[in-house]
Amino acid sequence: KMKSAAAPFRETLQKLHRDHAPINSGAVASYIPELAGASPDWFAISVVTADGLRFDVGDSDRLFSIQSISKPFVFGLALEDHGREHVLSKVGVEPTGEAFNSIVLDEATNRPLNPMVNTGAIATADLIKGKDQAERFKRLMEMFRRYIGREAYVENATFLSERATGHRNRAIAHLMMNFGMIEDRVDETLELYFQQCSVLVDCHDLAVMGATLANGGVNPITGERALKAEYVKDLLSIMLSCGIYDFAGEWAYRIGLPAKSGVGGGIVAVIPGVAGIGVFSPPLDEKGNSVRGVRVCKELSERFGLHVFESG
Ligand code: GLN
Repeated sequence: KMKSAAAPFRETLQKLHRDHAPINSGAVASYIPELAGASPDWFAISVVTADGLRFDVGDSDRLFSIQSISKPFVFGLALEDHGREHVLSKVGVEPTGEAFNSIVLDEATNRPLNPMVNTGAIATADLIKGKDQAERFKRLMEMFRRYIGREAYVENATFLSERATGHRNRAIAHLMMNFGMIEDRVDETLELYFQQCSVLVDCHDLAVMGATLANGGVNPITGERALKAEYVKDLLSIMLSCGIYDFAGEWAYRIGLPAKSGVGGGIVAVIPGVAGIGVFSPPLDEKGNSVRGVRVCKELSERFGLHVFESG
């Protein structure tokens, strides 16, 4: 459908970009200096279809740290490493209704509620296999490479600031180790978590990552499989129910697309079978989601009837 309509669709995205550029609400994340340096004016929208058509508008090649958008993808790697049953014994799949950095664990099982919030993401990072820390890191980077279709890099300054200021994440990790939910290698696992958050991507990369999930786990640009087909639905269902922090329910209801946001200002959304959407705009709302990102996705969803349960 989109192929025949490529030119008008590109114009639609350009108009969306023009219409949303003047929005000036929200605030750039400031908890680490590396994020605080972002311009509130940076703004990009990218769409990549499951058959590899690409649409990029605005600052689509400006690099930023992926932050929490890494979480579903690392969850996928953990599933490949251990299988569903073991992973789900360490992390649940229940929305929290709480902020991304909430310290709450499930009272009955001591598990983090889901892999899309920090508790669950740290538990997930713990599951990455490797004979030593270097191999775990390399496997993490390999995973990102398959999704974005080029070498993945960690921005060292972001990583160092995450590590220097991550006291709350450190507390969460120690609490989970106390409960035996993660292994006795907290510092290593926290480093991996801070590194996964500090991977550099641009908005186009986000759309390719989304398109890879839309395409059953195969990157439509490179043709390389990034995730076993059987786990694609795990990522998509948890993104739909938990991907947008404590706005997840509202998002699922109004926009109806599996998605994940990060405090770097990125959002990735997936139209299953059809395309991936990336939006990048650093100013965040009070829940930590990109203001322009949420609005652009809402508008795209409404305009094209993209809600996964749309039947009209
Ligand atoms: N590195 C950030 C943190 O753990 C990621 C948060 C996010 O994108 N929501 O605080």
